[in-house]
Amino acid sequence: MMLAMLPMALAAQNLLAAAATMKPGELRETTVGHARGMTCLIKAYPDLVKEILDSNHLRTHAGDVLAYDQGLPQSSHEWRLDHADLKAQFDQSYPAQPLTAAPELNMDPGRLRSQAFFDHLYGQNLKQVQSQMVSLHWAPCQCKLSFAGRHGAAQALLRVGQQLARKPELAAYVAKPLGSLNWRNIAGTQRRSMHAYGAAIDFQLPKHLHHYWQWSGCKAGARCDYPAPVLRDQTLQAVVQVFEAHGFIWGGKWYHFDTLHFEYRPELTGPACAGLR
Ligand SMILES: [Zn+2]
Repeated sequence: MMLAMLPMALAAQNLLAAAATMKPGELRETTVGHARGMTCLIKAYPDLVKEILDSNHLRTHAGDVLAYDQGLPQSSHEWRLDHADLKAQFDQSYPAQPLTAAPELNMDPGRLRSQAFFDHLYGQNLKQVQSQMVSLHWAPCQCKLSFAGRHGAAQALLRVGQQLARKPELAAYVAKPLGSLNWRNIAGTQRRSMHAYGAAIDFQLPKHLHHYWQWSGCKAGARCDYPAPVLRDQTLQAVVQVFEAHGFIWGGKWYHFDTLHFEYRPELTGPACAGLR
C-alpha cells in the first residue's frame, strides 16, 4: 500500500508545480482531467507506472517517460482508434451498470488503446509477451488456461473463474474458452488486439448470444444493428458483472460489439476510475 501511496504524494507536488505555470482555464480543464487519468493508470498498473512527472507525463519504474496527451486532433472514430494516446483511453467511459439498450453510435469504451502503453505493460513482440504468460486453473471447465501474468491479470481471471464456478448456470456460459494469446492485428486494421498481449480471452457463448460486429455484416464507418437477445439475457449480464468486478471489460458494451470477448483493463473499472473521462 505504501508503495502505491508514495507516487500519489509526489504526483500532487509535481502537479502543483506544473499548475503554477498555467492559465486558470488550462488548469481547470486540462491539469485536473489529466491528473485523474494518470492517477488511475498508477493505481491500475503500479508495477509499471512509478509516478506523475508533470502535468502531462508519467514515468515508469524503468525510467521511461510516457506522454498522457499527445494533442490528437478531433478526427474520425476510425482514425482515433488507430492513433489513441493515454488520454484517449479515457475519452469514452466504460459503463459500470448492466447494458439495457444498444450502445450509441461509435461508443466503444475500451477500444481506444495506446499501443505504446500496452507494449510497455506486456511486451512489444511475441517473445516478450510469451515470457510473461502463466497457466491458471479455470474453474468453470476444470481446465487450464494461459493468460498474461503481469499486473495481476492472471490472478484476476483466476478469481473470476472461482466466483463463477459457485453458480453453475453462470459457469456454463464460460465453460468453453476459445483462447487468449494470439499475436495478430485486429481484423482489417494495423492495430494490435489485446489478444496479442495475452490479456484478453474469448468464450463460446450460447449461439444466440455469440456475436461479433464484423460477422454480422456491419462495415467500419457504417451503422450496426446490436443483437437484441444479448440485452435480454440476465445470465450473461450476471457473468459480465463478475468479470467487471475483477478489472475486466466486456466487448458486448461496444457499439462495435464483440460479445465473446473480455479483456483485463483495470484502469477502466473499479470505484476510483470507472466512469472517468
Ligand atoms: Zn477477443
